[in-house]
Amino acid sequence: MIDLHVHTNFSDGSYSPRDVVRRAVKRGLKAIAITDHDTIEGLSEAVAESELHGLEILTGLEISAESGKGNIHILGYMIDLDNAALLENLEFLRIGRRERIPKILKKLQSFDMPITIEEIEREAPGGVPGRPHVANVMFYKQYVKSRPEAFDKFLRRGAPAFEDKVKLSLAKAIEIIRGAGGIPVLAHPVSLDEHDSDKLFDRLEELKKLGLMGIEAYYSTHSEKQTELYLEIADELDLCVTGGSDFHGIAKPTIEIGKIPVGGPLPYILINRLKELATNGLGRQKNSNEKQKN
Ligand code: AMP
Ligand code: ZN
Ligand code: FE
Ligand code: FE
Repeated sequence: MIDLHVHTNFSDGSYSPRDVVRRAVKRGLKAIAITDHDTIEGLSEAVAESELHGLEILTGLEISAESGKGNIHILGYMIDLDNAALLENLEFLRIGRRERIPKILKKLQSFDMPITIEEIEREAPGGVPGRPHVANVMFYKQYVKSRPEAFDKFLRRGAPAFEDKVKLSLAKAIEIIRGAGGIPVLAHPVSLDEHDSDKLFDRLEELKKLGLMGIEAYYSTHSEKQTELYLEIADELDLCVTGGSDFHGIAKPTIEIGKIPVGGPLPYILINRLKELATNGLGRQKNSNEKQKN
């Protein structure tokens, strides 16, 4: 059993990379990919812990990208963690996230909910603070009765304390993953909110033209019908198929690591395909700077 979509407290998961690895081992997983939002910082701790247990870790991340038609999440697998362009772009996103927090806090202040930057930073040890961390502090300071209430009343798009974050374009997100030798995969295609199968096909074809190489057909909340459709389109477009739970720990209490209701438990062969793509060098873009240097 494997799980290719897992978050730690380096982004907005509840558990440290070490505890995530221990949980995966306990539940009998053979391999997981750590896919924190906009950061790869949690990977070294996860890899160190995994070596004690014989669990395989795939390097990964999940980038929030701007598509013009809404927000799209792109997973990147088997990336080179030292790639300069990747690190530069993640630093850009980190700075954007850090500059966004005081703006949110200022808005909350006007609703008599004082919160300090330090209080947020304590919630986000990975240095990529976001709205879930703000919601945590609002909850423990008893400004709201629950985290969902924090989003509904204040933090969601359209609510009075909403502040958008800096994002990469879709093309850029795909490019930096490929530039780092990785495989870009569309996360939870259900989020495209495209119910017409022809339109969905066209949309994915466009993404493929930008360099997308796979689609996360197996996912915690995909129905049988959705999963089938995504598998069919992946086959037609020759995109590889991945799957994962999107485990966040108690932050998303209904989701368990390794648990995929439709199509799970996921077999290791999905990883073989990713490895094939990576070792064939297909992950690396022809025109990436690094290639020109070599
Ligand atoms: P951010 O990247 O800081 O904008 O935060 C996005 C994250 O907030 C998502 O990955 C979700 O985990 C969480 N989130 C977004 N909307 C809601 C909501 N309505 N209720 C609870 N969590 C949410
Ligand atoms: Zn998340
Ligand atoms: Fe996502
Ligand atoms: Fe995720």
